[in-house]
Amino acid sequence: MKVVMKFGGSLLASPGGIPRVSRVISKASKKMRVVVVISALDDVTDLLLHAATNARTWDSTQVIHFIDRIRGIHSQPLTEMELRQATYNEAVDHLEELLDDLKLTLSGVSILRELTPRSNDLLLSFGERLSLVVVSAGLRKAGIAIEALTGGDAGIVTDDSFGEASLEVTKTRRGVKEKLLPLLTKGVVPVVAGFIARSESGEMTTLGRGGSDYTATLLADAIAADEVWIWTDVDGILTADPRIVKSARVIEELSYAEAEEMGFFGAKNMHPLALAPARKAGIPVRIRNGFKPDRLGTLINPRERKSSAIAKSVALVGNVGIVTVSGETLVGRPGTAAKIFELLGKAGVNVLMISQSVSESNISAVVRKGSLERAASALSEGLSRVGISAGVKVEPDVSVLAVVGAGMQGTPGIAAKVFSAVAATGVNVRMIAQGSSELNISFVVASRDSEKAVKALHESVVLGK
Ligand code: ADP
Ligand code: ASP
Ligand code: MG
Repeated sequence: MKVVMKFGGSLLASPGGIPRVSRVISKASKKMRVVVVISALDDVTDLLLHAATNARTWDSTQVIHFIDRIRGIHSQPLTEMELRQATYNEAVDHLEELLDDLKLTLSGVSILRELTPRSNDLLLSFGERLSLVVVSAGLRKAGIAIEALTGGDAGIVTDDSFGEASLEVTKTRRGVKEKLLPLLTKGVVPVVAGFIARSESGEMTTLGRGGSDYTATLLADAIAADEVWIWTDVDGILTADPRIVKSARVIEELSYAEAEEMGFFGAKNMHPLALAPARKAGIPVRIRNGFKPDRLGTLINPRERKSSAIAKSVALVGNVGIVTVSGETLVGRPGTAAKIFELLGKAGVNVLMISQSVSESNISAVVRKGSLERAASALSEGLSRVGISAGVKVEPDVSVLAVVGAGMQGTPGIAAKVFSAVAATGVNVRMIAQGSSELNISFVVASRDSEKAVKALHESVVLGK
């Protein structure tokens, strides 16, 4: 049996995290062939992203401060693991080399006062590369025969659309097979830095946020693995975000489509393509708790068994806003909606949800808060340029709630149940959409009301109380 196992950043960075992960890998590698994928430690990618966006205005002291902070996050687990002196020295040397490179890259941004998409990717890649040094040292200490590889070393090839590079599927399959299969035959565990890859011209690229789950499934596809196990810090995929709903339960089984909808709506911060390679190849994916490795977790299964639950979970996406275009001129004018989405697309704004009122005098789109202002100015300038006079309004403090479950397909009355549960809490619904797959009903509420609505929906629609 061949299994690709991915370990999330929160798990790796928890107290005693790397020794805990090492025990899981050590036990598994005695029974099966294992490929390991790791993320950056904890929120290091967020820190790098923040540094990348701000380094243009930093001076050298600020760069040094930042490097010290990143050094601290990685040297703490190295020290705590009480490694043999030689292993420790080797890891520290490697860490310092990477930190020197990181410092050079950040200083470059700060001197040039410019951040290109290429340097942004290079900066983000340090999270997984630094983590790889630390985790590898721990695995070697546990006596596991490993080979540490970046995504590029492992054979993952992408184009050079920096920020969210597209996989070169055929080349990747061939490259990964050539690299990983001989290691597995020799009984070596390949340890691959997730999220990062290499373009054909040899540049560092990244797969997009949350990309290390995607690394795991694309490797599994390439080596024809039997399963993918995503180890995280909770029991699997739950009926609601456990940080909001204390009574959230583990969902034992989900179809790929349901899991994708949930991932999109915020459960487990999933990359939009995370499940695609596994779905296409029919490889089951398990989400498991690294703190409780004896539990089975959630199985995302190719068999798509029909479950009795109608709505399986409720998810919440915060940090979004609504941009609304309104005006008489929109009425009965074919192509207006197309124009609106073309303008948003050109401005690089990703639309999460849309609705148009029946009167046609309003079209609203939900977008990430970070792109709300960009969306509004792209629309007001772009529409007036083509002679459409319309008002553009933004509402910044809203959240999207989504109820997800395949059982909702063709079940009458679900929408009524959902909205009466929300109404009973006195929360006002701002905008509604149902995916045509009927796998989800999603709607927008004011952010201050969102947790109250999640709790109410979980009780009445998911748990059926
Ligand atoms: P990792 O660091 O392992 O990649 P993620 O950040 O991708 O983990 O996602 C795990 C976190 O997602 C959990 O710790 C949990 O707080 C949060 N989460 C939100 N909604 C859900 C849900 N429905 N099921 C499971 N986890 C959820
Ligand atoms: N470290 C990357 C991120 O935070 C990839 C991942 O964790 O999956 O987006
Ligand atoms: Mg993640």
